[in-house]
Amino acid sequence: MTNRHVKGRVYLVGAGPGQADLITVRGAQLLKTADCIICDRLANPALLKFARPDAEIIPVPKRIGTRSVSQQDINELLLEKAAGGKTVVRLKGGDPCIFGRGAEEAALLAEAGIDFEIVPGVTAAIAAAEYSGIMLTHRDYSSQVVFITGQEAEGKKETNIDWYLLAKFPGTIVFYMAVGNLEFIADRLIKNGMKEDTPAAVITYATLPTQRIAKAPLRQITDKCGHEKIEPPAIVVIGAAADSDDRLNWFMKKPLFGKTIVATRDHRGNAEFAAKIIQCSGNPIAFPTIKLKPLTSTNKFLQTLAKLSDYDWIIFTSANGVSFFFDVLQSLNKDCRVFASAKIAAIGAETATRLRQFGIKADFVPNVFTSKELGKQLIAFTNLQSKKLLLLRSELASNELVELLTEAKAQVTETPVYAIKPEKTESEWLTEKITKGEIDWLTFASPSAVKAFFDQIPTDLVNSSGLKVASIGPITSEQLKSLGVVVDTEAADHTIDGLLAAIEGTYK
Ligand code: SAH
Repeated sequence: MTNRHVKGRVYLVGAGPGQADLITVRGAQLLKTADCIICDRLANPALLKFARPDAEIIPVPKRIGTRSVSQQDINELLLEKAAGGKTVVRLKGGDPCIFGRGAEEAALLAEAGIDFEIVPGVTAAIAAAEYSGIMLTHRDYSSQVVFITGQEAEGKKETNIDWYLLAKFPGTIVFYMAVGNLEFIADRLIKNGMKEDTPAAVITYATLPTQRIAKAPLRQITDKCGHEKIEPPAIVVIGAAADSDDRLNWFMKKPLFGKTIVATRDHRGNAEFAAKIIQCSGNPIAFPTIKLKPLTSTNKFLQTLAKLSDYDWIIFTSANGVSFFFDVLQSLNKDCRVFASAKIAAIGAETATRLRQFGIKADFVPNVFTSKELGKQLIAFTNLQSKKLLLLRSELASNELVELLTEAKAQVTETPVYAIKPEKTESEWLTEKITKGEIDWLTFASPSAVKAFFDQIPTDLVNSSGLKVASIGPITSEQLKSLGVVVDTEAADHTIDGLLAAIEGTYK
């Protein structure tokens, strides 16, 4: 090997089995620092959210059949990037070395004198089993587990698998990459003495909202998979463990499991919402209808900012308002001391939480999260007569709050922090999904989102399609009803968590 001055380092990182947050903390940290990420097809693309904006991302789809050719390309790529001094994360589905060719890549790096580390990941067998309540080991029936690749058997007469031994294995047998060969595998096992009625289970898309399970005795499992249209990637479990207790299938029992839920907020709001939907095992679809534009460089805002200490109460009516406010504060090199002795009110839990992130504990949060309640309850909470109040909110906000506070003889100033503009999103694909019945829920978190959404998607289509509509609160529901849209559920707590809870509530 020639000596090079700068050599990079390669991290072979397990991405986990599917659901993005099943990656290890170490794996996520390395993704944040990588110059270059070489990413397998089975690694969840959502993990790339950790990547630096300037990181080079190289997807390397590997297909069965052309495997060796593309592995050669991957090897060359690894050497090229690392030799160029880059920190490379080689992100591989599941665990990098369980049927992941991690061993070959590590040997290649060792040979080239390139430093490497291996970060284990949750391998598909373990995740698939635990996300479907199948216990691979159990004191009563399985003291041993074997992981086998089903590809070994493909088209080969001679395989490395000792079928005779395997057929007598007194524990749990797990096959990777076996869907295409299932008939062959079942046949071999049975011919070598395994009982035809040995329990078998096949789990596809484990840990994802699209996870499905087919269970049958070994002799029937191939037919069952055909019938249920089970496709790769899937894990096959054979042995007593596969005859699992359905009560332990916790994941697929979650109320929102597999439900496709459309989020219609702005980009950032949709991303936040999507993360919560995934936590409930739902399948989020982002359809941005609005974009938020900060108004924090206007003269009006900057003048207000210079005089914040004049106010007795400063009122935030959305988490977005808080974020835009603190963004500009930071860019001006200021901090929360600008509030001086002013008291701070937040419309609800999300706004108060966002304030907390910037070191502010709201002095007042109503127990119902609407502008009207904020006004009513603030008036009941403290005497506002001749008090100077500042409302920091969106340009579009309703006048009701100002009227209420003025009636209580407060001196109210309103300064918009951001504007809400409709966002044009390509809508044909969503119309098609709605028509095909592939959407379970549309969700709305503001009247502006409702308006912008139905400017693009016909109300008739939504009302006639059988999908359901969830609204964050009464003002958003009113807007929906005024357009003739049927509201199936409204959040009791007017937050994104409340919206999800309302949807979950419809399944109880
Ligand atoms: N290194 C990976 C395995 C790569 S081989 C790991 O440790 O998990 C690819 C095989 O893994 C697939 O054919 C399938 O058998 C299994 N697999 C990967 N992801 C899966 C998932 N989400 N659900 C079920 N099986 C999966």
